[in-house]
Amino acid sequence: MTEVEKPILNLRNLSKTFGDFTALANIGLTVQPGEFVTVVGPSGCGKSTLFNILAGLEEADGGSTIRFEDRSVMSKDLLGKVSFMPQRDLLLLWRNVIDNAILPLEMEGANRADARKEAERMLPEFGLAGFADKFPHELSGGMRQRVALMRTFMFKRDLMLLDEPFGALDALTRTMMQRWLLDVWQKHKRTVLFITHDVDEAIFLGDRVLVMSSRPGSIKIERKVDLPRPRGAELLTSPEFVALKRDLLTAIEEESMKTFGPANGQK
Ligand code: ADP
Ligand code: MG
Repeated sequence: MTEVEKPILNLRNLSKTFGDFTALANIGLTVQPGEFVTVVGPSGCGKSTLFNILAGLEEADGGSTIRFEDRSVMSKDLLGKVSFMPQRDLLLLWRNVIDNAILPLEMEGANRADARKEAERMLPEFGLAGFADKFPHELSGGMRQRVALMRTFMFKRDLMLLDEPFGALDALTRTMMQRWLLDVWQKHKRTVLFITHDVDEAIFLGDRVLVMSSRPGSIKIERKVDLPRPRGAELLTSPEFVALKRDLLTAIEEESMKTFGPANGQK
Protein backbone atom coordinates (compact mmCIF):
# COMPACT_ATOMS: atom_id res chain seq x y z
CA MET A 1 0.00 0.00 0.00
CA THR A 2 1.15 3.51 -0.76
CA GLU A 3 1.53 5.96 2.06
CA VAL A 4 -1.55 8.03 2.79
CA GLU A 5 -1.26 11.51 1.31
CA LYS A 6 -1.47 14.60 3.48
CA PRO A 7 -5.01 15.96 3.57
CA ILE A 8 -5.64 19.10 1.55
CA LEU A 9 -8.18 20.19 4.16
CA ASN A 10 -8.67 19.29 7.78
CA LEU A 11 -11.26 20.88 10.05
CA ARG A 12 -11.57 20.32 13.75
CA ASN A 13 -14.16 21.76 16.14
CA LEU A 14 -15.23 24.27 13.56
CA SER A 15 -18.09 26.33 14.92
CA LYS A 16 -19.95 29.43 13.83
CA THR A 17 -22.38 31.50 15.81
CA PHE A 18 -24.40 34.48 14.64
CA GLY A 19 -25.26 36.38 17.81
CA ASP A 20 -26.83 33.74 20.04
CA PHE A 21 -27.70 31.43 17.14
CA THR A 22 -25.32 28.52 16.62
CA ALA A 23 -25.21 27.78 12.88
CA LEU A 24 -22.36 25.24 12.99
CA ALA A 25 -21.06 23.23 15.95
CA ASN A 26 -17.87 21.21 16.10
CA ILE A 27 -17.54 20.34 12.44
CA GLY A 28 -14.79 17.81 11.82
CA LEU A 29 -13.80 17.03 8.26
CA THR A 30 -10.79 15.71 6.37
CA VAL A 31 -10.46 15.86 2.60
CA GLN A 32 -7.69 14.14 0.65
CA PRO A 33 -6.22 15.63 -2.55
CA GLY A 34 -8.23 14.60 -5.61
CA GLU A 35 -11.24 13.45 -3.61
CA PHE A 36 -14.82 14.27 -4.57
CA VAL A 37 -16.68 14.73 -1.30
CA THR A 38 -20.38 15.46 -1.25
CA VAL A 39 -22.19 17.13 1.63
CA VAL A 40 -25.90 16.56 1.91
CA GLY A 41 -28.21 18.15 4.43
CA PRO A 42 -31.56 19.85 4.87
CA SER A 43 -32.02 23.46 3.98
CA GLY A 44 -30.84 25.78 6.75
CA CYS A 45 -28.39 23.30 8.32
CA GLY A 46 -25.41 25.55 7.63
CA LYS A 47 -23.98 24.17 4.39
CA SER A 48 -23.50 27.56 2.75
CA THR A 49 -22.15 28.99 5.98
CA LEU A 50 -19.50 26.25 6.02
CA PHE A 51 -18.52 27.09 2.44
CA ASN A 52 -18.44 30.82 3.12
CA ILE A 53 -15.95 30.10 5.90
CA LEU A 54 -13.83 27.87 3.65
CA ALA A 55 -13.88 30.49 0.89
CA GLY A 56 -12.58 33.10 3.32
CA LEU A 57 -15.76 35.20 3.32
CA GLU A 58 -16.81 34.56 6.90
CA GLU A 59 -14.65 34.01 10.00
CA ALA A 60 -15.15 30.86 12.09
CA ASP A 61 -15.56 31.15 15.87
CA GLY A 62 -12.52 31.16 18.11
CA GLY A 63 -11.36 27.62 18.95
CA SER A 64 -12.07 26.35 15.44
CA THR A 65 -9.14 24.70 13.71
CA ILE A 66 -8.66 24.89 9.96
CA ARG A 67 -5.67 23.24 8.31
CA PHE A 68 -5.25 23.85 4.60
CA GLU A 69 -2.45 22.21 2.62
CA ASP A 70 -0.91 21.18 5.93
CA ARG A 71 -0.84 24.67 7.42
CA SER A 72 -2.97 26.05 10.19
CA VAL A 73 -4.94 29.01 8.81
CA MET A 74 -7.66 31.50 9.65
CA SER A 75 -10.69 31.63 7.41
CA LYS A 76 -9.56 34.95 5.93
CA ASP A 77 -6.28 33.37 4.78
CA LEU A 78 -8.30 31.17 2.43
CA LEU A 79 -9.67 34.07 0.40
CA GLY A 80 -8.43 33.56 -3.16
CA LYS A 81 -6.86 30.20 -2.25
CA VAL A 82 -9.85 28.07 -3.26
CA SER A 83 -12.19 28.06 -6.25
CA PHE A 84 -15.69 28.84 -5.04
CA MET A 85 -18.98 28.62 -6.84
CA PRO A 86 -21.60 30.22 -4.61
CA GLN A 87 -25.17 28.97 -4.46
CA ARG A 88 -26.36 31.68 -6.85
CA ASP A 89 -24.53 31.80 -10.16
CA LEU A 90 -23.76 35.52 -9.82
CA LEU A 91 -23.16 36.11 -13.51
CA LEU A 92 -22.90 39.77 -14.34
CA LEU A 93 -25.77 40.60 -16.66
CA TRP A 94 -23.82 43.20 -18.62
CA ARG A 95 -20.89 40.88 -19.36
CA ASN A 96 -20.88 38.21 -22.06
CA VAL A 97 -19.94 34.57 -21.46
CA ILE A 98 -16.20 35.07 -21.90
CA ASP A 99 -16.00 38.17 -19.74
CA ASN A 100 -18.04 36.51 -17.01
CA ALA A 101 -15.75 33.47 -17.10
CA ILE A 102 -12.53 35.48 -16.74
CA LEU A 103 -13.78 37.69 -13.90
CA PRO A 104 -11.78 36.11 -11.05
CA LEU A 105 -8.63 36.04 -13.16
CA GLU A 106 -9.14 39.66 -14.07
CA MET A 107 -9.58 40.54 -10.41
CA GLU A 108 -6.24 39.00 -9.53
CA GLY A 109 -4.56 41.04 -12.25
CA ALA A 110 -4.18 38.47 -15.04
CA ASN A 111 -3.69 39.68 -18.58
CA ARG A 112 -7.18 40.10 -20.00
CA ALA A 113 -6.35 39.10 -23.58
CA ASP A 114 -4.62 35.91 -22.40
CA ALA A 115 -7.48 35.05 -20.07
CA ARG A 116 -9.99 35.58 -22.88
CA LYS A 117 -8.00 33.28 -25.16
CA GLU A 118 -7.93 30.58 -22.52
CA ALA A 119 -11.67 30.93 -21.94
CA GLU A 120 -12.30 30.66 -25.69
CA ARG A 121 -10.35 27.39 -25.71
CA MET A 122 -12.41 25.99 -22.84
CA LEU A 123 -15.84 26.79 -24.29
CA PRO A 124 -16.39 23.46 -26.13
CA GLU A 125 -15.53 21.39 -23.06
CA PHE A 126 -18.16 23.30 -21.11
CA GLY A 127 -20.79 22.92 -23.82
CA LEU A 128 -20.60 26.59 -24.71
CA ALA A 129 -19.00 26.54 -28.17
CA GLY A 130 -20.33 29.45 -30.22
CA PHE A 131 -21.70 31.25 -27.15
CA ALA A 132 -18.70 33.46 -26.36
CA ASP A 133 -20.54 36.70 -27.11
CA LYS A 134 -23.88 35.82 -25.55
CA PHE A 135 -25.15 37.54 -22.46
CA PRO A 136 -26.66 35.70 -19.47
CA HIS A 137 -30.27 36.51 -20.47
CA GLU A 138 -29.67 34.72 -23.79
CA LEU A 139 -28.68 31.45 -22.06
CA SER A 140 -30.67 28.55 -20.60
CA GLY A 141 -30.39 27.75 -16.90
CA GLY A 142 -28.05 24.84 -17.62
CA MET A 143 -25.80 27.03 -19.72
CA ARG A 144 -25.60 29.73 -17.09
CA GLN A 145 -24.52 27.09 -14.58
CA ARG A 146 -21.85 25.90 -17.00
CA VAL A 147 -20.53 29.44 -17.39
CA ALA A 148 -20.35 29.71 -13.60
CA LEU A 149 -18.61 26.31 -13.44
CA MET A 150 -16.17 27.27 -16.16
CA ARG A 151 -15.35 30.41 -14.21
CA THR A 152 -14.75 28.27 -11.12
CA PHE A 153 -12.51 25.85 -13.04
CA MET A 154 -10.58 28.70 -14.68
CA PHE A 155 -9.63 30.00 -11.26
CA LYS A 156 -7.17 27.16 -10.92
CA ARG A 157 -7.06 26.26 -7.27
CA ASP A 158 -6.63 22.71 -6.04
CA LEU A 159 -9.75 22.82 -3.90
CA MET A 160 -13.11 23.59 -5.48
CA LEU A 161 -16.20 24.39 -3.45
CA LEU A 162 -19.46 23.94 -5.35
CA ASP A 163 -22.59 25.04 -3.48
CA GLU A 164 -25.67 23.29 -4.91
CA PRO A 165 -24.59 24.03 -8.49
CA PHE A 166 -27.46 22.04 -10.01
CA GLY A 167 -30.13 22.83 -7.42
CA ALA A 168 -32.24 24.97 -9.74
CA LEU A 169 -32.10 22.75 -12.82
CA ASP A 170 -34.80 20.43 -14.12
CA ALA A 171 -34.21 16.70 -13.57
CA LEU A 172 -33.02 15.89 -17.09
CA THR A 173 -30.57 18.77 -17.36
CA ARG A 174 -29.38 17.94 -13.88
CA THR A 175 -28.56 14.34 -14.77
CA MET A 176 -26.64 15.43 -17.85
CA MET A 177 -24.73 18.03 -15.88
CA GLN A 178 -23.78 15.50 -13.20
CA ARG A 179 -22.22 13.16 -15.74
CA TRP A 180 -20.53 16.01 -17.49
CA LEU A 181 -19.11 17.34 -14.19
CA LEU A 182 -17.58 13.94 -13.39
CA ASP A 183 -15.87 13.92 -16.82
CA VAL A 184 -14.48 17.41 -16.33
CA TRP A 185 -13.40 16.63 -12.75
CA GLN A 186 -11.50 13.52 -13.83
CA LYS A 187 -9.77 15.42 -16.61
CA HIS A 188 -8.74 18.37 -14.44
CA LYS A 189 -7.83 16.31 -11.35
CA ARG A 190 -9.15 18.72 -8.76
CA THR A 191 -10.40 18.20 -5.23
CA VAL A 192 -14.11 18.90 -4.95
CA LEU A 193 -16.39 19.61 -2.02
CA PHE A 194 -19.93 19.57 -3.38
CA ILE A 195 -23.09 20.61 -1.55
CA THR A 196 -26.47 19.20 -2.43
CA HIS A 197 -29.76 18.42 -0.73
CA ASP A 198 -30.27 15.40 -2.99
CA VAL A 199 -29.11 12.00 -1.70
CA ASP A 200 -29.02 10.45 -5.20
CA GLU A 201 -26.82 13.25 -6.45
CA ALA A 202 -24.55 12.94 -3.42
CA ILE A 203 -24.00 9.21 -4.02
CA PHE A 204 -23.76 9.45 -7.79
CA LEU A 205 -20.98 12.04 -7.68
CA GLY A 206 -19.07 11.37 -4.49
CA ASP A 207 -16.18 9.25 -3.30
CA ARG A 208 -17.62 9.93 0.12
CA VAL A 209 -20.94 11.31 1.35
CA LEU A 210 -21.21 13.41 4.49
CA VAL A 211 -24.61 14.05 6.00
CA MET A 212 -25.22 17.22 7.97
CA SER A 213 -28.06 17.73 10.37
CA SER A 214 -29.29 21.04 11.68
CA ARG A 215 -29.69 22.99 14.91
CA PRO A 216 -26.81 23.27 15.21
CA GLY A 217 -25.30 22.16 11.92
CA SER A 218 -22.89 19.29 12.31
CA ILE A 219 -21.71 16.26 10.37
CA LYS A 220 -23.57 13.22 11.63
CA ILE A 221 -23.03 10.46 9.12
CA GLU A 222 -20.30 9.52 6.71
CA ARG A 223 -20.31 6.82 4.04
CA LYS A 224 -17.67 5.81 1.56
CA VAL A 225 -19.06 5.35 -1.96
CA ASP A 226 -17.38 2.23 -3.31
CA LEU A 227 -18.88 2.43 -6.78
CA PRO A 228 -16.77 2.15 -9.93
CA ARG A 229 -15.93 5.11 -12.14
CA PRO A 230 -16.67 6.27 -14.76
CA ARG A 231 -20.27 6.37 -13.60
CA GLY A 232 -23.23 6.41 -15.93
CA ALA A 233 -27.03 6.33 -15.75
CA GLU A 234 -27.07 2.53 -15.27
CA LEU A 235 -25.46 3.01 -11.87
CA LEU A 236 -28.62 4.58 -10.44
CA THR A 237 -30.51 1.29 -10.66
CA SER A 238 -27.64 -1.01 -9.67
CA PRO A 239 -28.10 -3.06 -6.47
CA GLU A 240 -24.99 -1.45 -4.94
CA PHE A 241 -26.34 2.05 -5.47
CA VAL A 242 -29.79 1.15 -4.14
CA ALA A 243 -28.28 -0.56 -1.07
CA LEU A 244 -26.09 2.42 -0.24
CA LYS A 245 -28.99 4.80 -0.68
CA ARG A 246 -31.16 2.71 1.64
CA ASP A 247 -28.37 2.59 4.21
CA LEU A 248 -27.91 6.37 4.05
CA LEU A 249 -31.61 7.14 4.27
CA THR A 250 -31.98 4.80 7.25
CA ALA A 251 -29.07 6.49 8.99
CA ILE A 252 -30.55 9.91 8.23
CA GLU A 253 -33.90 8.84 9.61
CA GLU A 254 -32.34 7.45 12.81
CA GLU A 255 -30.43 10.65 13.24
CA SER A 256 -33.50 12.84 12.80
CA MET A 257 -35.44 10.62 15.25
CA LYS A 258 -32.89 11.57 17.88
CA THR A 259 -33.72 15.21 17.26
CA PHE A 260 -37.44 15.15 16.59
CA GLY A 261 -38.63 11.86 18.07
CA PRO A 262 -40.66 9.25 16.18
CA ALA A 263 -42.92 10.55 13.42
CA ASN A 264 -46.08 9.27 15.17
CA GLY A 265 -45.26 11.31 18.25
CA GLN A 266 -44.88 8.32 20.61
CA LYS A 267 -41.83 7.77 22.73
P1 ADP B 1 -27.95 26.01 4.11
O1 ADP B 1 -26.98 26.48 3.08
O2 ADP B 1 -27.63 24.66 4.66
O3 ADP B 1 -29.37 26.08 3.62
P2 ADP B 1 -27.11 28.40 5.53
O4 ADP B 1 -25.67 28.17 5.80
O5 ADP B 1 -27.45 29.32 4.42
O6 ADP B 1 -27.87 27.00 5.36
O7 ADP B 1 -27.76 28.95 6.86
C1 ADP B 1 -27.67 28.25 8.11
C2 ADP B 1 -28.36 29.04 9.19
O8 ADP B 1 -27.57 30.17 9.54
C3 ADP B 1 -29.73 29.57 8.78
O9 ADP B 1 -30.59 29.46 9.89
C4 ADP B 1 -29.46 31.02 8.45
O10 ADP B 1 -30.59 31.81 8.67
C5 ADP B 1 -28.32 31.36 9.39
N1 ADP B 1 -27.43 32.40 8.85
C6 ADP B 1 -26.67 32.30 7.75
N2 ADP B 1 -25.96 33.41 7.53
C7 ADP B 1 -26.29 34.27 8.54
C8 ADP B 1 -25.90 35.60 8.90
N3 ADP B 1 -25.00 36.29 8.19
N4 ADP B 1 -26.46 36.14 10.01
C9 ADP B 1 -27.35 35.44 10.76
N5 ADP B 1 -27.75 34.19 10.47
C10 ADP B 1 -27.24 33.60 9.39
MG1 MG C 1 -27.21 26.99 1.10
